[in-house]
Amino acid sequence: MPLWIFVNRSLALGKIRCFGFDMDYTLAVYKSPDYEALGFELLLERLVCIGYPHEILNYTYDPSYPTRGLVFDALYGNLLKVDVHGNVLMCAHGFRFLSEAELWSYYPNKFIQRDDLLRFHILNTLFNLPETYLYACLVDFFTNCSRYANCDTGYQHGNLFMSFRSLFQDVSDAMDNIHQSGCLKEKTLENLEKFVEKDGRIPLLLGRMKEVGKVFLATNSDYNYTDAIMTYLFDSGTAPRPWRSYFDLVVVDTQKPGFFAEGTVLRQVNTDTGKLRIGTYTGPHQHCAVYSGGSSDAVCELLGVKGKDILYLGDHIFGDILKSKKRQGWRTFLVVPELARELRVWTQRNELFEELGKLDGVLAELYQGEAEARLLLPGCPPQGPQGPGRGQLVGSDEGWAWLGRWAGVYLWWVTQLCALGGAWVWEQGERSRKDQGISSLGPSPPCPVLPLPAPLCPALFWQAQGLQEPGAAGHQCYQAAD
Ligand SMILES: [Mg+2]
Repeated sequence: MPLWIFVNRSLALGKIRCFGFDMDYTLAVYKSPDYEALGFELLLERLVCIGYPHEILNYTYDPSYPTRGLVFDALYGNLLKVDVHGNVLMCAHGFRFLSEAELWSYYPNKFIQRDDLLRFHILNTLFNLPETYLYACLVDFFTNCSRYANCDTGYQHGNLFMSFRSLFQDVSDAMDNIHQSGCLKEKTLENLEKFVEKDGRIPLLLGRMKEVGKVFLATNSDYNYTDAIMTYLFDSGTAPRPWRSYFDLVVVDTQKPGFFAEGTVLRQVNTDTGKLRIGTYTGPHQHCAVYSGGSSDAVCELLGVKGKDILYLGDHIFGDILKSKKRQGWRTFLVVPELARELRVWTQRNELFEELGKLDGVLAELYQGEAEARLLLPGCPPQGPQGPGRGQLVGSDEGWAWLGRWAGVYLWWVTQLCALGGAWVWEQGERSRKDQGISSLGPSPPCPVLPLPAPLCPALFWQAQGLQEPGAAGHQCYQAAD
C-alpha cells in the first residue's frame, strides 16, 4: 500500500527542534474492534447498574455501524452525519435510516446549528465509537420494546418519561465512569496483546528523533497506566532500554485541552510509587523525570524551546491539535488511523473515481452557464474521492463529513515517518522535494516521492475543507514507495 502524507501547511522537518507525542491512539494505538467492544460491554454493564433493563446486555458491538464524527441529537435521539457547514447528509433513529421526507421534517432545510452544543453532541474521538453505537442500540431497544410508548422526544413508561436528553446524560455519565473508575484501563492492562498494537518501529523512530532534537510525551493518562503501556510498547525483548530514556520530558495527567491554556499545577511524580509530590515544581528540568499536570508553557520552559520549534503529534482534533496550533503556534500532525482503509478503498477503486470525475465533467458542461456551474470551478475536478465505496470517515455522496483543515500534516500512523525518513520538506502549494533537513532521522526513501496525479490533489482537500476554492493555495499529498 502506498504511503501518503497530506499537507495542509508547509513543514520543513529540518526546522523542527522538538517532537511532542500524545499517547492514547497516537503512540498507543488500540486494536479495533476488540478495544471498542470492551468499552461497549463496560458501558452496558454500567447502564444496567444504574437501572437500565437487562435486555440491553443482548447487544454486541458492531464495528461496521459507527464512524467517527457523527452527531447525536439529544432532542430527537437521532444520529446524524453532518458536513462542515451543518448540512445533514444522513440520519438514523436507532438502526433505521430516515427517509428524505422524514429528514426534512426533523431538520428544516436539512441543516443544523452545529454550535448548539446543548442539543448536538459531536462524537469526535475514537474513544467515542462504543458510545456512538450505544446510542443506536438504546434507541433501537426502547423504540421496539412494547413496555415503552414512543414520543417525539423520548419514551413514556407508566408515569415515567425518559427523554433522549436524559438517555444522552446517562451514557455520558457511564462513559466518564468507565474512564475515571479505572475499569477500562484495568481490563486493557490485563490483556495488552489483545488491545494494544505493538509496533517495533516506535523505539527506532523516537531514538532517531532524540538524536536530532528533543522529544517529549504529553498524555492525559495517569502515570501508572502510562508506565504500563509504554513499557509494553518499548519492550523489544532483545536490548532492554527503559522507555523513559527515549524522552527528554514526560508529562502525565495533562488535562488537554486546558493544558494548552492556563494548565494546572505542575507536580513531580515519584516514579517508584506513582504518587505525586505536593507543591508546584519550580526547579530546572531533570532528565528522565516525570511530571504531572502543568501547561504547554511549562513544557517550553523546561525544554528551552519555542512553539514554532515543536511538532506535536496527536489524534484528538480539539484536545491535541486545534488548541496547540491556535494557542501556542505549535506545528501539528494529526494521526487518523481510518485513513489507511479509506485510501486503500480509494486506491483499489481508482478507476471508478476517475469515471465519476469524468461524468461530473460532463455534468459541468451540461450546466455551463447555469448557476450550478459556478460550483464547478475551471481547472478543478468537481469531485473528490467519494461515493459509496469511498469509506465512512470522509466519504459520502454529498461531501466530506469530518476531515477538515485542522492539522498541518495528516498521516494514519506515526511510524510512517520511519519509512519516509527525515530529509523532507513537505510543501504546500508546490510539488517539489528538497534534500535538506534532518538527514539522520532516517534513511532516504527507497524510491523518489511522487506527487499524486494532479487532478486528485486539489480535489482531495477541496472536499476536505468544504468549499475551499480550488484555485487558492493548494494542498499536496505526496506518495512515497509502495
Ligand atoms: Mg490521544
